[in-house]
Amino acid sequence: MFRDIDINEISDGKLYDIDDEVPVGCNACEGCSECCQTTGDSIILDPYDMYNLSKVLNKSFEEMIEKEIEIRMVDELILPNIKLYDENNKNAEDKCPFLNENKRCSIHKYRPGFCRLFPMGRYFFNSNDSSLNKKDYKYILQINECTKPKEERYNVKLSEWIGIEDIEQYEQFVDKWHSFKINIQEILSQMPEEKGIKMARYILQIFYVIAYDTSKDFYEQFYHRMSKISLK
Ligand code: SF4
Ligand code: SF4
Repeated sequence: MFRDIDINEISDGKLYDIDDEVPVGCNACEGCSECCQTTGDSIILDPYDMYNLSKVLNKSFEEMIEKEIEIRMVDELILPNIKLYDENNKNAEDKCPFLNENKRCSIHKYRPGFCRLFPMGRYFFNSNDSSLNKKDYKYILQINECTKPKEERYNVKLSEWIGIEDIEQYEQFVDKWHSFKINIQEILSQMPEEKGIKMARYILQIFYVIAYDTSKDFYEQFYHRMSKISLK
């Protein structure tokens, strides 16, 4: 979801790179699970998240839908997000379905990119910005998200915080996926509604519904899928 915001209102005003130290360390949240109980449906999943969820749950998109994930329109696209509330269990608390009884993430190693970053976020520049070379975003520290007092947090290298093995390849993917979404949203916004929805469904199908082979590399499959879509 793209937000037109003043970063000084939501962050400490600094822009961070992947190798920077950031004040987010919290001893694995020390039993706090506040954000996992409240941010679920704002966790929009990207194709890498979908690959990881398929791997850890050993389920197809269809099997996950309505229990662990749901879909909705986000800026012209139809995208999946983590489902916050189990409608089949009226006694269930509002929380992420992956939060276990010990208030820990049951899919920690495979958690979505949003959770990996939190309380950091990404700040995307306008892609015409001439100062951009390698990628067109930096990271920000969101100051109103984590409830843990700032004084209790210690510095951690951002790449370690995110905890993805090939971080360079991951960052390139994030960049590519973001530009793709910007371009396609522009195109969809100019299409007649019915045609736009059809296209949005097709994109959902290509990047999320068609199963990934989780025994093989994600990135190769992602770029192959990307090559099937022409933006012209
Ligand atoms: S996936 Fe894990 S880290 Fe993310 S909100 Fe759910 S329980 Fe929390
Ligand atoms: S609110 Fe902060 S301390 Fe609590 S679970 Fe979330 S990130 Fe951890």
